[in-house]
Amino acid sequence: MNYDRFFEEAIAQLHSERRYRVFADLERIVGRFPRAIWRSNGEVREITVWCSNDYLGMGQNERVIDAMREAAGKMGSGAGGTRNISGTNHPLVELEAELADLHGKEAGLVFTSGFVSNEAAISTIARLLPNCLILSDELNHASMIEGVRRSGVEKKIFRHNDLAHLESLLQAVPHERAKLIAFESVYSMDGDIAPIEAICDLADKYNAMTYIDEVHAVGMYGARGGGITERDGLAHRIDIIEGTLAKAFGVLGGYITGKSAVIDAVRSYAPGFIFTTALPPALAAAATTSIRHLKVSQAERDAHQRQARATKDALSAAGLPVMASETHIVPLLVGEPDLCKQASDRLLEKHGLYIQPINYPTVPRGTERLRITPTPLHSDALIAELTGALLETWTALGIPFQSDATDAQHERSERVVSLVTAKSGG
Ligand SMILES: *Cc1c(COP(=O)(O)O)cnc(C)c1O
Repeated sequence: MNYDRFFEEAIAQLHSERRYRVFADLERIVGRFPRAIWRSNGEVREITVWCSNDYLGMGQNERVIDAMREAAGKMGSGAGGTRNISGTNHPLVELEAELADLHGKEAGLVFTSGFVSNEAAISTIARLLPNCLILSDELNHASMIEGVRRSGVEKKIFRHNDLAHLESLLQAVPHERAKLIAFESVYSMDGDIAPIEAICDLADKYNAMTYIDEVHAVGMYGARGGGITERDGLAHRIDIIEGTLAKAFGVLGGYITGKSAVIDAVRSYAPGFIFTTALPPALAAAATTSIRHLKVSQAERDAHQRQARATKDALSAAGLPVMASETHIVPLLVGEPDLCKQASDRLLEKHGLYIQPINYPTVPRGTERLRITPTPLHSDALIAELTGALLETWTALGIPFQSDATDAQHERSERVVSLVTAKSGG
């Protein structure tokens, strides 16, 4: 075995499929969000970020930064241990209480990231339940898929947001068998929302537990930032609400909330929670400050929705192929991986605008896109600048505009299907 060659070929494969990832080297500038310094090939330039998940700009909120600084000054940098062995710092205990309150649940549990929270919680809950069946939405995030896989239990994938399909799968198993329905509220690549109430109705009817990922909604929806489940008055109908501290809250970490017994079980049985160092006090204090701020301040949520709407309107009016989205996410269809990368490169190099290309496997082939995330700090002037730069890019690269985009996308996916068929046939 030539090990070096093996890994080089693995990378070459990604290049040939046009899905080798290149990271932009950024330095965000406090007080000037969404501006950042970009370093590339020895060059240093200032650019505007249009694809951050710091949806509300809370990562640069003065009070959040102060809380982080103060906690680090008083308690030091790291937590100093796992939760079990000296790492349970007081700000973290306060944070968990804050999260339980945010979702109206008995208890909360914080993990190193949202990814870890999904992976650890789903796998542990499903593994503890006897002969559990997981019903998982086909577009669930990689972290949930990892949790399902890790659990080792039987799984059934239901078509995205398809209640009839979910019901037919539920019908096929005995009423008394343990079932866990895992889904998201806001799907972050298309910006659509799950039929949460109807899924809860099915869960009641067929005796299933519900697990929802509210990562792309917490802080941003609901009167106190409790997500879509708060906005729609459904939090009490969900067994486990999962979220992140790293997106709208602007810090780092993930969490679950729910009834005390299930949270305590995950705390006690999940290796991904137990065998890792606790979140540092500075991060916990910053997250609590951010959550508390967004519980009472509506200004960020209002401005966020306003600027997202303004961005969609401006791009649509310019004839750009904005994909349907019910939320703050603005996906712009390119439909081809090479073009998608070229568009992103051109926007950055020529226009100083950074929008990372989203290619397979994050989205299906043929639906490659630029995923734009306006924030309250993306002003009308920045939106106008973005629109002009996209128009120039779309024209220069010959990317389909609104009217022809759907046809082109359709044609491309058909081509992909016939390629796959030809391949498996041969
Ligand atoms: C980003 C994301 C996560 C992971 O959250 P992190 O805190 O970034 O690890 C989980 N679920 C969804 C849907 C996400 O988009």
